Amino acid sequence: MLNKILLQPDIYQPFLTQLGNIFSEMDASYQAAADYYGFSCDGCQDNCCLTRFSHYTLLEYLYVRQGYAELNQKIQMQVRQKSKEVIYQTALLLAQKKVVRLMCPLNDKGLCRLYMLRPMICRLHGIPHEFQNPALNKKKYGPGCRTFTDKCAHKKYFIFDRTRFYLSISVLEKKIREAFNFNQKLKMTIAEMLYVPDQQS
Ligand code: SF4
Repeated sequence: MLNKILLQPDIYQPFLTQLGNIFSEMDASYQAAADYYGFSCDGCQDNCCLTRFSHYTLLEYLYVRQGYAELNQKIQMQVRQKSKEVIYQTALLLAQKKVVRLMCPLNDKGLCRLYMLRPMICRLHGIPHEFQNPALNKKKYGPGCRTFTDKCAHKKYFIFDRTRFYLSISVLEKKIREAFNFNQKLKMTIAEMLYVPDQQS
């Protein structure tokens, strides 16, 4: 089903444009908080691209896949190969009940190859935040990353509320799923998005 959807950019492109607008607002909001704290990822040894993030939306899947399709073929092959290795190594580590800390296949020498198209969690990670959980009708708070805690935890909390971003994305996700009559649950790492066995070269 995902492969069929990928072949229909005329349908999904308008949704991705809207997603880009939400991401722009998210980035601006994140940056305002980062500026307040004087926080930056420069020189971070605890690279969050080593975290095994899962992504849950069709929107983000298509966003990443679209960016990947625009990479040149040589880079695509490298990314696909790295994705395959990450999937294999992850399975080995999980089988041994070990913590998985493997570099994201899109990270090249410390930089994201699809930085402008990176998923939501890659944009939000690092800064303390809050969000309104509609099911519980109360706010939840999340801490910053370890580097943030080391550098900036002494500063007073700057309100960084993720709620409206989560809401906007869930509304848009609902619409794109309706457009494709797609109701499959998604939970994919970047490696799983980008390595499809029948693409093996
Ligand atoms: S998609 Fe980009 S920013 Fe996100 S973990 Fe991978 S390399 Fe890092």
